[in-house]
Formats: sequence, structure tokens, C-alpha cells
Amino acid sequence: MNEPRYPLLSLSRLRLMTDGEGITTLVAGAGCPLACKYCINGELLSKAKPRFVTPQALYELVRQDDLYFRATGGGITFGGGESLLHAEFIAAFRGLIGEKWRICAETSLQISPQQLQLALSAVDEFIVDIKDLNPEIYRNYTGGDLTPALENLNCLLRHGDKKKIKLRIPLIPNFNTPADCDRSEALLRSLGAKNIERFDYVIR
Ligand code: SF4
Repeated sequence: MNEPRYPLLSLSRLRLMTDGEGITTLVAGAGCPLACKYCINGELLSKAKPRFVTPQALYELVRQDDLYFRATGGGITFGGGESLLHAEFIAAFRGLIGEKWRICAETSLQISPQQLQLALSAVDEFIVDIKDLNPEIYRNYTGGDLTPALENLNCLLRHGDKKKIKLRIPLIPNFNTPADCDRSEALLRSLGAKNIERFDYVIR
């Protein structure tokens, strides 16, 4: 069987409390099924050339911060793009490192149910970019269908540790309103969500 490879765009070391607990290294990967209108990664994702790394090769790149990770309860955050398109790689990376570092994934949950199952077995903490839970607003802003993301969200909240699932609701200029965000938040709470963060997109 071919070893999974991660399309690595960049590494950002020594991040503190920005994407999960403790000190983290953000590992940005290429690829996303959505086309958000204000995507800050859009240009980077379309122009940058990823290099494809094996789990062992990624381990060699990030291991220099082992002491920081272990002292602070930190570890690796997979971002993107849509990090969980690479759930098979992340599961293989987990198999390589065992439990010694925390693994976090930033995701919109626009992935297959199989990828979500793999992620549930390998990821400690999820940071979910909800966008908006009105299907029309979601489609206008992302170009995508809300349905699979919502089904995955339901599954994640049923099977994951709710305290380790952060759900981020943005106020998106020209696309939704504070009242829309209230409705998204109410729906999330009705699904049992505990950890919800609201914030404003800043358009430059
Ligand atoms: S989900 Fe994230 S990476 Fe993908 S298009 Fe939207 S903002 Fe960009």
C-alpha cells in the first residue's frame, strides 16, 4: 500500500494559544473544496507549490520543538486549505508519534464521512470554521453545499469530545448579519455544542 503524503505548503513554529492548546507548529496543506469569497489563503493556495512529505519526513521537520510541545501540552495543528482532506495522512502521522503530542485540525468539515471517521480516531482537538448555517448564505459565500458539512458536524458532536471541538461563527461583511450568526449559534447549541466562538471577518 502506498504511504500517504501531505501536500505541505508551509510550517509556522512556536505559535502560542492561537490554534489549540500550548505551543504549536501550524502545518499548512494545499487543497480545499470551497471557494470562500474572502479566503485569505486563496492566492497562496492557487500559486504555491506544495512539496509532498511522508509522515516520517514531516516528523523530522517538526521534532525540534518536541520539548516545547510536551512542556505545554501543545503539538501539531494541521491547517490549510482543508486539512482533513488529508485525514489518512494525519492518522498515519498519529500512528508514528503515538500520544506524545496533541494533534489539532482546522476544518470546514467539507470532507467525506470516511475522512471524518479517520479524523475522529487521530485528532485531539477540532477547530471548525462554521461559516453560516443558513444554506443559502453558505452557498453564496463558499460556493458549496452546506448539507455534507452539517451531517459531519452532527456526527462530530455525537462522537467527539465536545469540549475539544471549537466552533467558530464569523460575521461575514455583505453575506450575513448578527441575527444570522445568532441563528447559527442557536442551532449549534441545539446540537449540543459547548465551545462556540464568534468573531468578525476583517476585509482589507
Ligand atoms: S474553507 Fe478556508 S481555505 Fe477553503 S476556501 Fe474557505 S477560507 Fe479558503
